[in-house]
Amino acid sequence: FPTCSKIAEEKPKSVLYSEKAVTSTYAPIDRIVDLIKSYAQLYSHVGLIHYGKSYENRDLYAIKFSVGPGKDTIIVEAGMHSREWIAIASTLKVIESFATKRNVDKEVTDLLEKYDWLFVPVTNPDGYHMTHTMDRMWRKNTRPQAGGCNGTDLNRNFDALWGGEGASPNPCHPTYRGSGVFSEPESRYLSRLVRSTRNKIAFFSVHAYSQLILTPFGCQRKKPRDSSHLTHVAELAKQAIYYETGKQFVVGTPPDILYPATGGAYDWAKMKMNVKYAYAFELRPDPHSMRGFIMPESEIQPSYRELFVALKAFAKNFVK
Ligand SMILES: [Zn+2]
Repeated sequence: FPTCSKIAEEKPKSVLYSEKAVTSTYAPIDRIVDLIKSYAQLYSHVGLIHYGKSYENRDLYAIKFSVGPGKDTIIVEAGMHSREWIAIASTLKVIESFATKRNVDKEVTDLLEKYDWLFVPVTNPDGYHMTHTMDRMWRKNTRPQAGGCNGTDLNRNFDALWGGEGASPNPCHPTYRGSGVFSEPESRYLSRLVRSTRNKIAFFSVHAYSQLILTPFGCQRKKPRDSSHLTHVAELAKQAIYYETGKQFVVGTPPDILYPATGGAYDWAKMKMNVKYAYAFELRPDPHSMRGFIMPESEIQPSYRELFVALKAFAKNFVK
């Protein structure tokens, strides 16, 4: 388990958020919301979508990038597990690039010309607030459950063989599946947002850690019919990461390389929403790292580059 000194290294107390850009820090939820609101005000290709409210009444926001009509949409959500700070910070930096580097950086300009992009930087804002205030290792949302324990694992609460393997029926367990499919506001509203998005070509969940690109399905050993193609495209993304930073990622399904887990978001996107390309990232560090979820802020930039080049490789190799 991470020690206190490592947590201090992760987020130096002497540094005020106002002194550094929000995207180079593990910013609190309010700063992240302020930032994406300002992007929507400043840039014509950026839109803000208020898609619901969390249990603690926080606004749930998605940010959409579109430079013209008629494009398929790539959806990226992060922070369903609130302690996975590097996943949120890396995704926020991708958002920053998409907002600020259009017609400045050719890679970004090309990605925006090819697809519409819909990002949810913090799917679980109540849990994320909890990790900044009460409990750095909190994973679930915060809604009270029967038996006096709080929180549901939102990534076990989706309609994908809900209630099966790898999801606990015990409300006190970190992988509690919830009292029913979409029993939680954060998963329910996200599902409505995805459902109402037209021409979805891809759905990505961004998690940490272990350096994996997870292919469907997570909830069963049976694979989708286009499994070998989905794996092939993921392997190209994995190579792109290796060329960028030298980090080795592993591609595979959760039952093959981790453990099966039912009720997950990307399985639901593939099984129920018919999204052709559905994946989950597990970002750095590697599975044997002593750091685990506690990564210094200096890791945000290289982790962002890994996520960015992977998304770029995916977008380049998607076949309609
Ligand atoms: Zn996770």
